Amino acid sequence: MSGTTEQRIAKVVVELALDRQFDYSIPSELIGSVQVGCKVSVPFGRSIRSAYVVCLASGSERKDLKGILSVESREPLISPLVLELAAWISRYYLAPIEHAVRAVLPGAVRRSSDNPAERLFVTVTEAGAKNGVVNILRERSPKQAAVLELVLGQEGLPMADVTRSLRTTSATVRLLEKKGLVEVEQKAIQRDPCAGRTIVKTEPLDLMAEQQVALDMVITAINAPAPPVVLMHGVTGSGKTEVYLQAIQHVLASGKGAIVLVPEISLTPQTVERFHSRFGDRIAVLHSHLSDGERHDEWCRLRDGKAQIAIGARSAVFAPVRNPGIIVVDEEHDTSYKQGESPRYNARDVAVVRGKLQACAVVLGSATPSLESFANAQSGKYRIAVLNHRADHRKMPVMRIVDMRVEAAKEGRAHVMSADLLEAVRLRLERAEQTILFLNRRGYATSLVCPKCGYVAKCGMCSVAFTYHRHTEELRCHICGGSKRVPTKCPQCSDPAFRFSGIGTQRVETIVKRFFPSASIQRMDSDATSSRGSHGRILNDFRTGKIDILVGTQMIAKGLDFPNVTLIGIVNADTGLHMPDFRAGERTFQLITQVAGRAGRGEIPGEVIVQTYTPHHFAVQSARNLDYIGFFDKESEFRRELRYPPFAHLACVTIRGRSDSATCFTAKQFYEKLRDSLPKEVIVAGPAPAPITRAKGYYRYQIMLRSKSALTVANGLRKAQQDFMWPSGVTCAMDVDAISLL
Ligand code: ADP
Ligand code: ZN
Repeated sequence: MSGTTEQRIAKVVVELALDRQFDYSIPSELIGSVQVGCKVSVPFGRSIRSAYVVCLASGSERKDLKGILSVESREPLISPLVLELAAWISRYYLAPIEHAVRAVLPGAVRRSSDNPAERLFVTVTEAGAKNGVVNILRERSPKQAAVLELVLGQEGLPMADVTRSLRTTSATVRLLEKKGLVEVEQKAIQRDPCAGRTIVKTEPLDLMAEQQVALDMVITAINAPAPPVVLMHGVTGSGKTEVYLQAIQHVLASGKGAIVLVPEISLTPQTVERFHSRFGDRIAVLHSHLSDGERHDEWCRLRDGKAQIAIGARSAVFAPVRNPGIIVVDEEHDTSYKQGESPRYNARDVAVVRGKLQACAVVLGSATPSLESFANAQSGKYRIAVLNHRADHRKMPVMRIVDMRVEAAKEGRAHVMSADLLEAVRLRLERAEQTILFLNRRGYATSLVCPKCGYVAKCGMCSVAFTYHRHTEELRCHICGGSKRVPTKCPQCSDPAFRFSGIGTQRVETIVKRFFPSASIQRMDSDATSSRGSHGRILNDFRTGKIDILVGTQMIAKGLDFPNVTLIGIVNADTGLHMPDFRAGERTFQLITQVAGRAGRGEIPGEVIVQTYTPHHFAVQSARNLDYIGFFDKESEFRRELRYPPFAHLACVTIRGRSDSATCFTAKQFYEKLRDSLPKEVIVAGPAPAPITRAKGYYRYQIMLRSKSALTVANGLRKAQQDFMWPSGVTCAMDVDAISLL
């Protein structure tokens, strides 16, 4: 390796939330094995820490450097490219570099140090399994006894699992091995998260004309020296996935790899299955439901080139795919691509950056592109491919709007289910077809209100009303998760006549059961699917026709494709419209369009019934008319005027603390500081109480920044943050290109 003899200094980030790098010297015996991306051990303060080498240098400003103790990973864990992405994330999203490094490397990979393919396994020997051995051991060496107890009766546990769960070291296990009580073996293991499932191989379909045009455009992009981003705007069911599959096939044929991002992978099992069916074990699936070991293995299969295609949620954008030729971001508008905590990156945008760094094509697909991406296509920054027709000539579903104000006036009170919707459900039951009822809110009723004094039951820690959950007879806070028993009388005026107002999925389920007692009805929301595997079970029951009516939240809005679903009822299209968020209209449009897209995937055309109290809102109307462009134009008007995204970048600063007055005061001071350190062009608004004024016991204030340049905002924020003295107990979170403004 040329030049390494000169590079005696390693700059590292330590596994602690410190926003800086530290210099260490490389002892001569480690020269050559300390490489960029390696995990190493370093003396830090009075302890020994793990750290990652981010670059090598020939000199340091400091003289008294400590030396690196050892190299923990034989091969670099992070490629220079992914390190560059981490550095970009740290800069752009104002996150400590260590947070960024942590985000790009799965925990499972960070924690293990030895070569994953052959791992150490601990098995009990005959001598160790004898009666009473554990008891004898317990008196002298309780730690060894604990290890023995753990491995007794097991087929062989990974060493890493043993040491981690007992908080001990491998030395303890080795002592047991010396005594002949356990055996430690290296085993090459292979885990297959899809084991047990039969996969039917699929062949590429003959493309429709629009699909062919889109594929040609993507292939041209792939072959370009500086591949552009392609926005694939295709209505639901237009066969975008088939285009991705064939584009990937093309990429594989030229010896390159691919990355496919899907929103919340557990919610999109069908999409993942389609990739499996086409590419078999060339796929590595990365998702949060895998065990540490499984995730580790999938990651290594990619790094070692044994798998060429990574498919996964947000963090798969960092997958160690060798020489990727394409990155696909499916449902690019989906908010789950944005990480809610530091580093608050958006995987879609990181994908575009990675594409640029690696000269690899990026395809963003959606039936309802974000305004940001569509504006980029309009300005010529992205190419655009349009698919206006459903594949295989299937019809778009027919949409009908039911004005719930008229419904309410007819009978003198509001109903959850309109007569039209009930009749439509009845018809489906009669014809043995399936129905999906969608409501964007779980629970039974949204709030508990006293009709006499107007008291609303609110969470004591958060400034939001409790949601009533009937199955457990409790009030639950959807912000902090806290819960409380339902009081028997009003805590304010002692009146016993409580009323539940607002509706949730549980209430819809109850009502539908009352109307159709013989139908098989199932609810699907995060309450109904909290146990492992229940999500897949419900979907399977639905697929096989065991369920007639599925009632659910956003969980059922994504990527599902059931041919026998001919009716979709959107119980209340307005729930999102009244959110204090400038994207409320966009969210409503997306949701109606996406949910409606679940209908009519089979031979029979689908029908969609949208219940709303604001039937003339343009988000509802454009969705009904399948008019994305109309929606985009109208929505752009007000965004442009008010300088909101996509016409500006928006950063949201949230200041929080337990004391309301101290938090408010600090927010005002920080606002002044920001005003001073940012150019006039930047709009600085606030500070104002956040829409959720109090959460988990913390008061929250927000300052909103908007500017043409994200970099100007980031630099200004960084500068202001550096010279600002935060009083103890008040903290600040910065969210660049914020998506949630709560
Ligand atoms: P999207 O991803 O745009 O929502 P899908 O890829 O799910 O659309 O396609 C919808 C349905 O049409 C799927 O069942 C798919 O197998 C089928 N399909 C896609 N392309 C074709 C084609 N060229 N010929 C026949 N069927 C197709
Ligand atoms: Zn709460």
